[in-house]
Amino acid sequence: MVVKMLPCSVQLEPTCKDCAAYKKLLCRCDPADTLHFLILALPYFVTTIAGVIVAGFGWFLLGWLTYAIFFFFRWEARVLCSHCPYWAEPSRVLHCHANYGVTKIWKYHPEPMNRSEKAQFALGALAFIIYPIALLLLGKQFLLASIAIVSSVSWGYLLYRNICSHCINFSCPMNGVPKSLVSLYLQRNPTVREAWEKAGFPVE
Ligand code: SF4
Ligand code: SF4
Repeated sequence: MVVKMLPCSVQLEPTCKDCAAYKKLLCRCDPADTLHFLILALPYFVTTIAGVIVAGFGWFLLGWLTYAIFFFFRWEARVLCSHCPYWAEPSRVLHCHANYGVTKIWKYHPEPMNRSEKAQFALGALAFIIYPIALLLLGKQFLLASIAIVSSVSWGYLLYRNICSHCINFSCPMNGVPKSLVSLYLQRNPTVREAWEKAGFPVE
């Protein structure tokens, strides 16, 4: 029988030092990783926020903020983050490198994301990215819109290369962790592994 236990990422004292995944995954919450994550997003946010104000649509930023709160705290939290081992921490607040501070109203879903959830995540994230760029285009700020598009593409690329290729939410459509490391993490975490196997993803 598989013993239900917390994933090692949210255990108080996991045995990390003897783990082959040590320092290869973003598997323990570290404020330096959160800072890294924010720095990657900075050029996009500076360009879009300043640009939307210059375009004369400053009040529309409130709509963007409202959508961001809904998306990151509720929608994305359910379709993406509730599947992440960080979500299993027995706390009302999420502690991870990307969505640190989100309040948890959904229960933990150790099984992988399904197709509908992946599509919803992609759609919701795309809407978040496009919203201010559309305002820049409406305000005829074509240079700023171009810079925003380039910075969003470079943000996505750097995110994938530096964060998603080490992230422990393995079923996220952006995740790029090699299969050998995914297996290693799942072997170390029987509760997650059992949920993956039940969902039809045999772990080697
Ligand atoms: S996979 Fe688990 S045990 Fe291994 S280094 Fe990461 S948190 Fe520690
Ligand atoms: S999926 Fe990413 S943002 Fe969500 S809890 Fe996991 S690490 Fe954090």
